[in-house]
Amino acid sequence: MHRRDTLLAHAGRSPDDHDGMVNTPVFRTSTVVFPTLDAYETPKDPYGKSVRYGRHGTPTTYAFEDAVAKMEGGFQAVATPNGFSAVVVALMTFARPGTHLLMVDSVYGPTRTFCTRQLEKLGVEVEYYDPLIGAGIATLLRDNTCAVFCESPGSLTFEVQDIPAIAAAAHARDIPVLADQTWPTPYFQSPFEIGIDVSIQAATKYIGGHSDIMMGVVTTTERYWKPVRQTVADFGYSVSPDDCYLALRGLRTMGVRLKQQQVNALRVAQWLETRPEVSRVLFPALPSHPGHALWKRDFRGAAALFSVVLTPPVDDAALTSFVDALTLFGIGSSWGGFESLITVVHAASIRTATNWNPEGPAVRLHIGLEDPEDLIADLAQAMIHLPTHRADTNGAATHV
Ligand SMILES: *Cc1c(COP(=O)(O)O)cnc(C)c1O
Repeated sequence: MHRRDTLLAHAGRSPDDHDGMVNTPVFRTSTVVFPTLDAYETPKDPYGKSVRYGRHGTPTTYAFEDAVAKMEGGFQAVATPNGFSAVVVALMTFARPGTHLLMVDSVYGPTRTFCTRQLEKLGVEVEYYDPLIGAGIATLLRDNTCAVFCESPGSLTFEVQDIPAIAAAAHARDIPVLADQTWPTPYFQSPFEIGIDVSIQAATKYIGGHSDIMMGVVTTTERYWKPVRQTVADFGYSVSPDDCYLALRGLRTMGVRLKQQQVNALRVAQWLETRPEVSRVLFPALPSHPGHALWKRDFRGAAALFSVVLTPPVDDAALTSFVDALTLFGIGSSWGGFESLITVVHAASIRTATNWNPEGPAVRLHIGLEDPEDLIADLAQAMIHLPTHRADTNGAATHV
């Protein structure tokens, strides 16, 4: 088995099969024709990687899935139209009427909405748990618990979960662990080594990496492959070969992008920690973060996405002026691209199992491949709009 960077360059391609072309080409098709009726009607492994009909995948799809499965260290992977559909597939594979699902309270908002609006309607009892629960999850497991869902760190509030402890408790009762692995990526964490059974990626984020495609991918252990693959087929999900091509192209450079974005994010985060306008930086890679030790134990690096709690008082008008004054940070959803972004965190209102009431308003930053000194200068000039701004500490020249 090769090392991660080598896998990124080589997994999921076979030039010999494509006239020597380095990349697996874009195969567009709906219909696949067979030489004889017998060949057409001979049953094929419905979960295999044979080309039968466009909806089930083409060599472009399979190249992408193969590369992701190898990077994740799982048995096989299946692409879905976006990250959210990958979450839906994972949940729908295990949820049954009359079962109980344990969902982390810090989960991505639309995942929570899916539980509330769809799973509960189907008779699944969804119980939210404290992201810091660790081995204590054992007390919440029931005979009818269908799965434990994790997302570590939470992609708004950045609590790091003790997934190995959660997985040990769940596996002792033969309950599968599903995890949204979009922040760690397969580059910075190997999900199956820490006890995850079903790993979900919003490939829209770092795998695509260029803010121009929507894609999801679910990778599983051998045991859970068939049920997960079957759910994708039953829901009629399919992905465009053009998007698969772009996702695979993004994957090739994911390692270098992530490594550089991690350096940039740390630089910006450490600068923010020195500022009087900032109360706390919620970034597991910082020693000040309560989850830092777990992060060091279970991750190989940090995605360039973190939140910042501003020092109160900051009213809505000041917050808006600060965000609007930024010129290098786009205001918008998503992250994982090459460019920097900012959004305001509204996490307090959606919690049910735990309280999240930070001392001031919070913003979430995604740090891109820009020069971090330019990003710092941009943040510094925008901070003039915050009431806690101190002129004597202004300026990008402040070096830590
Ligand atoms: C963006 C995101 C998703 C959903 O991905 P889409 O491709 O936007 O559907 C799921 N989970 C997390 C943690 C995300 O950040």
